[in-house]
Amino acid sequence: MIYEETDKLPDLLKPDNSADEEPYSTLRPAILSEYVGQEKVVETLQIAIEAALQRDEPLEHILFNGPPGLGKTTLAHIIAKEMHTRIVTSSGPALEKGGDLMGVLTNLEKGDVFFIDEIHRLPKVVEEFLYPAMEDFAVDFIFDKGVHARTHRFRLERFTLIGATTRSGLLSSPLRERFGIVRDLDFYEEKELVRIIKRSASILQISIDEEGAFEIGRRARGTPRVANRLLKRVRDYAQVRAQGSVTRSVAMEALALEGIDGHGLGEVDRKLLSTIIVNYKGGPVGIEALAATLQLESDVLIEVVEPYLLKTGFVTRTSQGRKASEMAYHHLGFTAGGKSRNMELFAGVKKKTDG
Ligand code: ADP
Repeated sequence: MIYEETDKLPDLLKPDNSADEEPYSTLRPAILSEYVGQEKVVETLQIAIEAALQRDEPLEHILFNGPPGLGKTTLAHIIAKEMHTRIVTSSGPALEKGGDLMGVLTNLEKGDVFFIDEIHRLPKVVEEFLYPAMEDFAVDFIFDKGVHARTHRFRLERFTLIGATTRSGLLSSPLRERFGIVRDLDFYEEKELVRIIKRSASILQISIDEEGAFEIGRRARGTPRVANRLLKRVRDYAQVRAQGSVTRSVAMEALALEGIDGHGLGEVDRKLLSTIIVNYKGGPVGIEALAATLQLESDVLIEVVEPYLLKTGFVTRTSQGRKASEMAYHHLGFTAGGKSRNMELFAGVKKKTDG
């Protein structure tokens, strides 16, 4: 993902390319049978892939929607592998001009997967180029301007576009309608995260027991990427402080040191909740005001931070804005009036001055 202010995010929530990527590539499942969870999505894909292979046709275009780190990019790579084709990857913000897209499309071979991450950030002009490419496997290129303008239609090979988005609501309907398969990825259950952690631990040769894996899994924000990152932190801690083995108590100590609490909330999450409670009397508060107080981009709040808080019920969304739930008050040790019994948690939360 490309945000201007990802520097302010804790490492755990950053996209892969802004943290040290190794060993995440080795942790990525390579085939569908290694992909944990999202069973309905996986089954749909299994059927679509098998049918397309039998007919010797490329797959339909596919759109994956869901919060970062849930496995959208991984699925795109798996699909290419299962279809025995190449994958070409790009992202909405990287395709600035129609020409950028033309360059990619005209080089695609039959059946290739073209993956566009953050497809909702595709500039409008580029998006319009994509429509005939997706529908008719052709692009219309315009030479000259004004009265001399001529269009030339370039034929393309039949390819499969896979789009990933964290904000499907921002996609225009003509674009969305051109995808044959549209699927939402949801947060993972604890038991699925435990499987992912055990799998990653075995690849990375980390000794971990069931309870250790469970402790990391339940604090991983329902997100495989976070689970893998927590595992790495815990591994370092275990190596230096606990003879290399990850048990429940080692995981708990390591994660406490990282500021991750029993619900998997980190500093940014707690700051968001306490800002709503302390500065806005529990809400509702508009996302822009909240973003300004927290000094974060509102897109980062909407796409990266808040989905898990909404899912777990710490935050609720109303037509007037975001509210902190009773659970949030309780979790942070606030009384209903907004007084904290646990003020040291909120060092750094600015109180809104009156007037
Ligand atoms: P997204 O594209 O949705 O942001 P990614 O596909 O990059 O997420 O996934 C982030 C990391 O999480 C991957 O590198 C992979 O190691 C891990 N991961 C994601 N989904 C799964 C899964 N279903 N099973 C195992 N590991 C997964």
